[in-house]
Amino acid sequence: MRVAALRCFFCSAEYPPGLLYFCERCGGTLEARGKWDAAALKDAVAGANRCGDRRGAWRYREMLPVSDRADPVTMGEGGTPLLRAGRLAETLGHDRVYLKNETVNPTLSFKDRPMSVAATKAVGSGLAGIVAASTGNTGVSAAAYAAKAGLPCSIYVPAGTPSEKTRLIEIYGAKIERVAGNFSDAWRRALEDARREGLFNVTSTYLNPYACEGDKTVAYEIFADLGEVPDWVAIPVGAGPLLWYCLKGFRELVEAGIADRLPRMAAVQAEGCAPIAKAWEAGADEVEPWGEPATAAGGIADPLAGYPRDGTRTLRAVRESGGVALRIPERDIPEYVALLARTEAVCAEPASAIAVAAARKLRESGRLRPGETFVAVITGHGVKDLDAAVSHPHLPHGPSAPAGR
Ligand SMILES: *Cc1c(COP(=O)(O)O)cnc(C)c1O
Ligand SMILES: [Zn+2]
Repeated sequence: MRVAALRCFFCSAEYPPGLLYFCERCGGTLEARGKWDAAALKDAVAGANRCGDRRGAWRYREMLPVSDRADPVTMGEGGTPLLRAGRLAETLGHDRVYLKNETVNPTLSFKDRPMSVAATKAVGSGLAGIVAASTGNTGVSAAAYAAKAGLPCSIYVPAGTPSEKTRLIEIYGAKIERVAGNFSDAWRRALEDARREGLFNVTSTYLNPYACEGDKTVAYEIFADLGEVPDWVAIPVGAGPLLWYCLKGFRELVEAGIADRLPRMAAVQAEGCAPIAKAWEAGADEVEPWGEPATAAGGIADPLAGYPRDGTRTLRAVRESGGVALRIPERDIPEYVALLARTEAVCAEPASAIAVAAARKLRESGRLRPGETFVAVITGHGVKDLDAAVSHPHLPHGPSAPAGR
């Protein structure tokens, strides 16, 4: 896709494609807009262009915001399996459960998709380096892709980030700064640093409109593997760009005449940090910042302090899809980690395992009907957050339901 403009999500103001993160008129986040070729998307979905760098996410290169001449910074991200989860399905009491297993990406989370696009863009634009705020996965991914691209990298993480994640960031050679406070505090520091030094800000909220486009490839792949649009796609959300851009991916499939409808999107949050679910439950139009996060789902612990409109953007996508936003009780989280590992041998981090809990919630509320297809995106590997993953009160055995809801 040749980017023709960056458009403000909130007021529709348009800007020439450059290094802009916020609308100059209203401060809103942006979206890359441009012409793309429906036939090329159709070919890619059909697997007709698998060659050279056209494997994994780059199979959908035509849909990514990079120039035709760009040499992708790639390590084999994307192309992850869609697993039919039979044993898990039995436990959850719903037949058609699938897992989009993003834990097998090069740095063990889906963040490698947007980061591969970001690193490619940074190299192509001759930028001096990259900066990110992160709860861990973005930082690990940014550090790795910066290493691969030969660019310096600085990562700002909240003080409580698991040591598995911070050590990986260091191993890849990035500079790491532990910020007192939560993710939003780190978000502000990364913003200042990127501005001051003229570096590419690849923080995985909505602020980098180029990087975010990489998330669309999750939708293309689910559709290509399933052969149809699923009824439900459950995604753990912090600010929510993965959910928003997945829906954008499905929209493009409809626009290209390849798919005939959109899935309903379930935005899944943990009780201890759930600003979007709270707004959805209240029927509110705007998301309010959360106070201090207190959750085992560290990977999505984003209180949106200073940028609550990111949550509003996600909330609108949920509503437009006919979906829901829900929160999972903290006490259930480690049990879903164990359940996923013991039924499907997928080791997920706590933030990712809660996507599975959505199936049970949706069944209970009658929104997920018998025979409908449910896909949970398992966003990141449990090995990067082991303490949170194994510290559980009791474990489920066999196909009985985890205690609590
Ligand atoms: C980044 C991340 C998400 C989704 O985050 P968004 O900012 O909402 O796109 C989900 N799970 C994990 C483990 C993550 O690292
Ligand atoms: Zn605007």
